[in-house]
Amino acid sequence: MRIKRRFWIPVVIVAALWIAKYLLFDTAAQPVGTFVIDLDALHRAATSAGALPQRIEVERVGEFAFPQAFVVAGGGFHMHPMVLTSYRVLWPDRSIIIDTAMAPEAAKKMPGSRVDEAAYARMQAAIRKADGIVFTHEHPDHVGGVAKAPDFATIASEVLMTREQLTGPKLERGDFPPGALDRVTPLDYQGLYAVAAGVVLQKAPGHSQGTQLIYVELATGARFLFVGDIAWSLDNIREHKGRPGVAHLLMKEDRGAVAAQLQAFGQLPPDVHVIAAHDPVALESDLKAGLYHQGFTGL
Ligand SMILES: [Zn+2]
Repeated sequence: MRIKRRFWIPVVIVAALWIAKYLLFDTAAQPVGTFVIDLDALHRAATSAGALPQRIEVERVGEFAFPQAFVVAGGGFHMHPMVLTSYRVLWPDRSIIIDTAMAPEAAKKMPGSRVDEAAYARMQAAIRKADGIVFTHEHPDHVGGVAKAPDFATIASEVLMTREQLTGPKLERGDFPPGALDRVTPLDYQGLYAVAAGVVLQKAPGHSQGTQLIYVELATGARFLFVGDIAWSLDNIREHKGRPGVAHLLMKEDRGAVAAQLQAFGQLPPDVHVIAAHDPVALESDLKAGLYHQGFTGL
């Protein structure tokens, strides 16, 4: 009896570990429902008022790394490089910021991190000059730059956070100065919302309650879809695989909703440039292709 038990215990442990690996790391979620991206409606909303923006710039504020198995279900356990970015949409006389990365002190706590203090300083200067600041979602690596802006009171009226972002459980309210978020008027919208000509929001909850798509159309006709962290890497879209089950445990994301969104991105025409927030390979290739430009200018 004792011999039998000695035999079974390791077998049960190995089986439990194998099942855990399969459920937590290897298996991608199936889409739940259909996520609709109506490009004609986005184009109409983008072009309904005023001149379209002329260019997009990006600041690479920092880098970090996660195990690949945490980024794409079924991936290996080697480290996968990630970037911290902020984008800026420009007209001759106006600008809108999309996401603000996070402050160097916070970024340095991320695994495998490197911070570009000069890029962060340029981003803070651009935040002060911006006519609007929008966010793909409310996580600290996207709202952190605004949370730590040196004088929040002067930019509060430009901070365009949705009600879902402002009330989301993943918004780190403690990162903001006391009372700062009370100065921000929650943005409520249904369907699509044009922040400005050429910049349109569409809600896409799943990764977080306040996740939204940000569609940008330039005067050149170039079309961009900022999807934030719905995809951490374009591999999530190419391979039809979102993050693994362990991500659900750690981030409480709705993996079925995210899978449906990834499926919708995969069906977009190739001239719609999907921008995943943390993909350094796609960033380099987009910069090389001249789709947008490195470094915030004219500050
Ligand atoms: Zn992120």
